[in-house]
Amino acid sequence: MKGATGKQRVAVITGASSGIGEATARRLAADGFHVVLGARRVDQVRKVAEETGGRGVFLDVTDPGSVVEFAEQVTECAVLVNNAGGALGLEPVAEAVETKWLWMYQANVLGTVRVTKALLPKLIASGDGHVVVVSSIAGLEVYEGGAGYTAAKHGQTVVAETLRLELLGRPVRVTEIDPGMVETEFSLVRFGGDAERAAQVYAGMLPLSAADVADCIAWAVTRPSHVNIDRIIVKPRDQATAGKVFRQ
Ligand code: NAP
Repeated sequence: MKGATGKQRVAVITGASSGIGEATARRLAADGFHVVLGARRVDQVRKVAEETGGRGVFLDVTDPGSVVEFAEQVTECAVLVNNAGGALGLEPVAEAVETKWLWMYQANVLGTVRVTKALLPKLIASGDGHVVVVSSIAGLEVYEGGAGYTAAKHGQTVVAETLRLELLGRPVRVTEIDPGMVETEFSLVRFGGDAERAAQVYAGMLPLSAADVADCIAWAVTRPSHVNIDRIIVKPRDQATAGKVFRQ
């Protein structure tokens, strides 16, 4: 993907070692972007980078020092996809586990803030920057047992909306992507590696694939530069709301 100056555009994707981030890396690379990929599982992210002609760098978005080191290795950035994040647990508020809540806030909200803050000068300098925030329908609705995650995703959504106001007049677009159910490692992580419980989440219904969400991201970042896609809500046909799912 070439910018107005004819140079290949650089897309930075956080959480690109699996799921939506990995699929976005593959899709944006196929669409002609040079991809710079970050995640904690550095071997996995380097493998994805090798396969997409990009670069894989260690990144822990919950660690301010790691974000600074990551950003120092990014020389140019036209597109930033804040995708790293996830959920831990499904306890009701009465049984909230604070360490899980803190991680969800760190990874989803502060992770987005840290990486965006660190790369914003480069996004502006590109002359045609684009910040994508992968939030969730959990950023727009609530469900029982989900408060730790929905509170964090609501926070992430608010950050995206605020950023669009604050960047008005600058050459940077802001797009929020709000998926419903996507079959990735998300539920496996949420349930602490319990594969059986994770599989139950998608039982009898057809979820989105990570590639379906990557398709939305790729579409949003390849519109003409005066067109800002504010928000894409994308759900499987089998899902009406976070808690209302049709199962065979
Ligand atoms: P996933 O397969 O578990 O991917 C999560 C990615 O985030 C992994 O690459 C993981 O890499 C990375 N990550 C987690 N903590 C990180 C940290 N501290 N620093 C850097 N990277 C970190 O799940 P996914 O579904 O693709 O999730 C991607 C995003 O989509 C998340 O923000 C999630 O909340 C959102 N989302 C998912 C769904 C769904 O149903 N799956 C729906 C709506 C929104 P490492 O473990 O290697 O660090």
